[in-house]
Amino acid sequence: MSKRTEFVTAGIPNKPMVKQKRRTIRLSHAVIVRAPGLLPMWYTPGELAQDLGISARALRDWQRFGLPYRRDERGHIWIDGRQFAAWVKAVCQPRPGRGLNQDEAYCLHCRGPVKLINPTRRRHGNQVTLKGQCPQCGNAIYRGGRHGESAELPLGPSVS
Ligand SMILES: [Zn+2]
Repeated sequence: MSKRTEFVTAGIPNKPMVKQKRRTIRLSHAVIVRAPGLLPMWYTPGELAQDLGISARALRDWQRFGLPYRRDERGHIWIDGRQFAAWVKAVCQPRPGRGLNQDEAYCLHCRGPVKLINPTRRRHGNQVTLKGQCPQCGNAIYRGGRHGESAELPLGPSVS
């Protein structure tokens, strides 16, 4: 169990803490617009950041949210332009009306919801990234979401 940290501000003890620490991945409009134009090549974080007009630090942060990258034998990070674009699209994908099941995600290649193979869930704060494989085309799929949403806690009573 993690250590409990006091977040309550001494001055305003009655202020509700709910929704104060909501952390979501923030992709700027520029990134969303520019990502589809990236080339199918390996970028260094510096190059990619420059092309997108963001900081390399933001890219490092996004790795925690499932940004696809690889490390070479010297420990350098490389990001494929097309993979990055697909990831941006997946992360920004508005949830379809009916919503996907917990183990489903939208495949960009098949253009539809599929049941993930070997889904793995990673949680960082309130952000949950689901990674799995498409059963039809075999491509890696990433699905972003927020902890506590949909069927994340199937047995938990929803208090509003
Ligand atoms: Zn697919």
